[in-house]
Amino acid sequence: MSYKCIYNGTIITMNENREIMESGAVVINGTEILEIGTTSELLNKYDYDEKIDAKNGIIMPGFINGHCHVSMSVFRSLGEDIPDRLTRYMFPLEDMLVDEILVNIGAKLSIAEMLLGGVTTFVDMYYFEAEVARAAKELGMRAIAGETILEKIAPDTNVPYGGIEYATKFIEKWKDDELIIPAFAPHATYTNDEEHLIEIKELSQKYNVPILMHISEMTFEMEGFKEKYDMTPVQYLDKIGFLCDKVIGAHLVYTNEEDMDILHKNDVGVIHNVAANAKSGRKVAPVPKMLEKKVKVGLGTDGPMSGNHQDIINVLDQYTKIQKVAANNNKICPAIEAVELGTIGGARAIKLDNIIGSIEAGKKADIIIIETNTPNIQPIYDYYSAITYAAYPHNVVMTMVNGKVVMKDRKLLTGDLDKIIADVKGMQKKIKEVALELERKAK
Ligand SMILES: [Zn+2]
Repeated sequence: MSYKCIYNGTIITMNENREIMESGAVVINGTEILEIGTTSELLNKYDYDEKIDAKNGIIMPGFINGHCHVSMSVFRSLGEDIPDRLTRYMFPLEDMLVDEILVNIGAKLSIAEMLLGGVTTFVDMYYFEAEVARAAKELGMRAIAGETILEKIAPDTNVPYGGIEYATKFIEKWKDDELIIPAFAPHATYTNDEEHLIEIKELSQKYNVPILMHISEMTFEMEGFKEKYDMTPVQYLDKIGFLCDKVIGAHLVYTNEEDMDILHKNDVGVIHNVAANAKSGRKVAPVPKMLEKKVKVGLGTDGPMSGNHQDIINVLDQYTKIQKVAANNNKICPAIEAVELGTIGGARAIKLDNIIGSIEAGKKADIIIIETNTPNIQPIYDYYSAITYAAYPHNVVMTMVNGKVVMKDRKLLTGDLDKIIADVKGMQKKIKEVALELERKAK
């Protein structure tokens, strides 16, 4: 096997005891972490193929972006602040423009951004998800890739719920991949009916794959379920028998305590997209209460039209600050909690904590180095504070996924970043023409 050693850094393990090891070293054997110890113990213990000097920086598990739509990076900064943006602008824009090429190019831009910012796993929902999977595989990133399913026609299908057929074929092709976990992604509670949700649940159990879904995100969604069923969307999904440990719900902004008990009972993972929700002017999801009730919560960026960054370091900072503002209480959501949600908490929410989320022997080697030699992050008395409040994505200087170094010294090693950006720019003229027309109609 091939041995690698990352040494000479402070290891933020995120293991159960939240151990921090100064002058630490991590030994990687193939795709897995073999051993953790001090640099003096481990640096000469094996015959290494590669030694990576962390130069007194932070060695920590890669971040997990639990909810995004990576290909929408090609639309970033379009149509900001338009009322009813989703239905009047984003859906029509996608119907007119989204094809396999756009999905692949957009995915590569976001994946490059994430790898440069220390994200090692992302959870995606979009159309032509096989192209997202191909892009992630090519750039060496771990992903859960969910094919969107809607009651209407979509860019990848001419029939309502055509996403189910696409997803099934996609899952059959990719289900044994070591980096990509294919999934079903019924878009939302208000765009899928009971019959199809149950069909999707049964298929997810047959193939043993996750189900990704937007839940309790919109005010019209909450009002609609109240009026039609006198229930919240979570109560409705529980009543029809849809909720289970396969479900990873995004947002859950409008969630009451009864909903939280239901989510916990069914072991549903929750992804909190604080920046996207803030930008949309929504309420702040009651994450502290969810954590108190032992709901598994991770962090996400949401899509590049909503988020707009695709890295998690920015989200850590936003998470604690926005929650503190919402509660008018600076005692909640400490920095360590933000780092937990961005790493091991996210891994729990997406049910991959057996393989990722912490630096522990036997886990997959998804590891990053954050350099600490720049003004914005010096001095460090508290590592969790430094990571949450002081670090920027550009402080990440090494990203390893599945034992492979995919970014080093701010250079993407698995793809041609100049070409990725040139490809995105090459689509701009056509996108702008369509967008201008839609903006005229939307106003
Ligand atoms: Zn979303």
